Amino acid sequence: MQVNEEYMAAVRQAPLGVIEPYLTSECTECDRVIDPSESGEHVMIGASVVIGCLGFFQIDPNVVGVSMPDWCDWRTPIAAEPVSGRLSLYEMGEALVKFVEGHDFYDLAYSRQHVGLFYGQKVAGAVITAVRTWLEAQYGALAVRAADFESMMMISDEAPGGHVPRMVWNDKTLSVGDQVHCEPDSDRPEALDGVITYINTTFWGQELCATGVGVRAAGSSKDVPVDWYTVTRAKP
Ligand SMILES: [Zn+2]
Repeated sequence: MQVNEEYMAAVRQAPLGVIEPYLTSECTECDRVIDPSESGEHVMIGASVVIGCLGFFQIDPNVVGVSMPDWCDWRTPIAAEPVSGRLSLYEMGEALVKFVEGHDFYDLAYSRQHVGLFYGQKVAGAVITAVRTWLEAQYGALAVRAADFESMMMISDEAPGGHVPRMVWNDKTLSVGDQVHCEPDSDRPEALDGVITYINTTFWGQELCATGVGVRAAGSSKDVPVDWYTVTRAKP
């Protein structure tokens, strides 16, 4: 709160020319034009939002003399990672994690629904994988479980977790690109040998579980969905 007051006082005292480039009636956090008579959580001066509804300082605090080296200029469009480039979904997820990390709301981004609101559903699986990897590296496996648990408040059993590039599940580690052998099961009377093209995940029992993989046989152009339990990595 103290920082807010210091910032507000500095903004009020600043010459108009200094703050003018940052003045807008739109909140950069909820993307709405805010009516001063119904400003709600927004802090306004006149018709301009100076603190967004989630607490973001919309006027660069550094130009009014409040040092915040990490302040992020909302006027610069966030460089969306080029979808058309060679970036894999996983790499896109990693880029998003970096973004999320900078904004300190990884718990929010961990929720598939929230990620899905802002990014394509296909990216959600990559984000979740990247967030898990990041959490594990930073805080260990317990943090992953804690985040899984937390996310389950918003993610129910059987919610799809998206496709991941690699999964450790039930004492088995499989990656996209692995050469595998799949035993027959009730849906697939014949054994199948091929390469993993995707790994599908589902939330279940407060964990992200591997449910199935796509396997493409040599010479085929079709991915066959295969149950995780029937798959073993082929001997090299
Ligand atoms: Zn807002």
